[in-house]
Amino acid sequence: MSLRIESSTLGPFGTNTYLVTDEATKHCIIVDAPPESAELLLPQIRENALVVEALLLTHGHWDHIADAGAFASGNIPVFAHQDDAACYSTPEKFAPFYMSVLPYLSQNDFQPVKIARWIKDGEKIALLGREFEARHVPGHAPGSLLFYCATEKLAFSGDAIFQNSIGRTDLPGGSWDTLVHSIRTKIYTLPDDTILLPGHGGTTRVAEEKDHNPYVRPE
Ligand SMILES: [Zn+2]
Ligand SMILES: [Zn+2]
Repeated sequence: MSLRIESSTLGPFGTNTYLVTDEATKHCIIVDAPPESAELLLPQIRENALVVEALLLTHGHWDHIADAGAFASGNIPVFAHQDDAACYSTPEKFAPFYMSVLPYLSQNDFQPVKIARWIKDGEKIALLGREFEARHVPGHAPGSLLFYCATEKLAFSGDAIFQNSIGRTDLPGGSWDTLVHSIRTKIYTLPDDTILLPGHGGTTRVAEEKDHNPYVRPE
């Protein structure tokens, strides 16, 4: 039985969150926790009696983790990459940047997130009775992760690559060269028919980006 994927676009930066449910077992995972995602998803999870196996964070930027603490305090284990550890342990350090763009935010909007498990490049993670492969794809953020499920032919790609675009590299720890290398070696090496579910915007496919992405051409 295949997975049901519900995406919602939330918060001031239009960040995607994904609720991925195995209808047969009623187990699910969540990918990224933008503002208001806990308010939206936790009641749904309760009403449908879903068991949340994990919240996967693609990277530590505020628009992807703002509600992660709310999920974690509901006993949902949170998985992330250690290179963004500061974003999770001391998010208030990054508050001035976001508050300069969004003056209505307060320090209260930047709560630390307890990470249950640090995920490494190449790690195989058992979720929803399937194997997910984590790939470290730094460049947009140092701790960017992609989560690839070969049997479902899909990958949650965070802010590394978007439909016909790529992530910005001007934020702290960002690097254009590193991002280009990540995309060429960790994303363009996925099977062509892999569906990419990014952190912003609509879904795309690996072949589509190899053929048409104007920023990163395959080597
Ligand atoms: Zn980001
Ligand atoms: Zn983002």
